[in-house]
Amino acid sequence: MRRIVIIGAGQAGLVLGLGLLRHGYAVTVVAERAAAEVLAGRLVSNQCVFHPALVRERELGINFWDERAIPVETVSFTAPGMSWQAPLDQPAQSVDQRVKVADWMTEFARRGGELRLHRVTPDDLEPYAREFDLVVVAAGRGPQFDRLFPRNPEFSPHTQPQRSIGVLYVRGGTPPPGLSFALGPHGECFGLPILSVDGPVYGAGIFAVPGGPLDRWDDIADVDAHLVRAQQLMREHFPWQGGILDGTEPAGPLEFLHGGITPVVRQPVGTLPSGALVLAMGDAAVTNDPLSGQGANMAAHAARSYEEAIVAQGDRPFDAEFMHGAFARYWARAAHATRFSLDLLDPPPAHIMSTLDTAQRVPEVAHRFAQLFANPVDYTGWLTEETAALDYLAAASARAADQ
Ligand SMILES: Cc1cc2nc3c(=O)[nH]c(=O)nc-3n(C[C@H](O)[C@H](O)[C@H](O)COP(=O)(O)OP(=O)(O)OC[C@H]3O[C@@H](n4cnc5c(N)ncnc54)[C@H](O)[C@@H]3O)c2cc1C
Repeated sequence: MRRIVIIGAGQAGLVLGLGLLRHGYAVTVVAERAAAEVLAGRLVSNQCVFHPALVRERELGINFWDERAIPVETVSFTAPGMSWQAPLDQPAQSVDQRVKVADWMTEFARRGGELRLHRVTPDDLEPYAREFDLVVVAAGRGPQFDRLFPRNPEFSPHTQPQRSIGVLYVRGGTPPPGLSFALGPHGECFGLPILSVDGPVYGAGIFAVPGGPLDRWDDIADVDAHLVRAQQLMREHFPWQGGILDGTEPAGPLEFLHGGITPVVRQPVGTLPSGALVLAMGDAAVTNDPLSGQGANMAAHAARSYEEAIVAQGDRPFDAEFMHGAFARYWARAAHATRFSLDLLDPPPAHIMSTLDTAQRVPEVAHRFAQLFANPVDYTGWLTEETAALDYLAAASARAADQ
């Protein structure tokens, strides 16, 4: 039986691990924290997962929260003087990653997977490479495995975070339904209902251009101060939906986070001093700014792509060709999510503003834009090409006028 170890018990690693168990592989997942510790920790994400990624979880029978999670059925977009809403073809959902990871760790062990607790360093990978046929590093974003998986400059234009992020989970009030995305002059606001550790909450993220007037998290030390600051920032910078957090209270003392994430695409195949190869996955391979809501979704797609590549490899060695092929399978989709995510960080060019503006009057355009979060592949060739975008707008507007 081929033995596979996955470093990191997150959205990517656990979905791959659970997928491989179905095919009879001996799978070990190395977690840095036990399930109870994960559940008791600070919030980690907004984790809006769209239908294509939810399908993967349902195929594996690990969709434990479908009855309780509030379906995210619409995307609403607002900007100064602009507002539209469109349905998602299939509902998305956000289940707190602490809940998902804790439940999936338990399920992984119940299905026969081996869980080890170990905070792995790059030097620790050699013994794993000797013990296992394949080492997959799914340990999330950050520089810890930088020297193994260097930045690929072709797809990584930034070396610093492009947003200063403040996320808060609240209860009460009357937040809007669905996924709401607001574009302001100094950053964005992103909100949605979440099934969290102690039940439903509303997740509100403010994404500030670093150093700008919305970037005011440095002096915030606790969740109450975060709520007051977030309410103030909403009123000042997103006045058209300034009351979104009125009447709410923090969901708990740990239910907030501040930080910045540098988007990066890495070389996915690392070589250890012994010459053994290791394969990066999920955020460890490709990290997008969370503004586009793609990371957890791409993690699920990576799990599918890698699982398919591993199964297709049969008894042949997990060599460099295999590893590059597995990543290429994933990148065929992830490249579009990365482009979409990178472009969202820049001031929108005129043809995208025209698209967002037209979406107010032409439901077809609003609908197509809303589905980009679930299917960023459609972004390329539509909104990456000014002429194509403007031609489409003219045709969609004519169709709407004919109706
Ligand atoms: C504020 C915020 C909002 C977000 N919103 C969304 C969203 O709406 N939609 C979306 O799709 N994505 C969103 N994301 C991104 C998403 O959370 C990540 O892209 C996704 O979790 C990546 O999955 P992963 O498994 O690669 O990494 P992770 O989920 O980070 O998992 C990595 C795991 O590895 C473990 N680990 C780390 N280092 C080690 C080590 N040395 N040894 C052993 N284990 C280790 C960690 O404990 C963790 O369990 C958001 C992220 C943030 C920060």
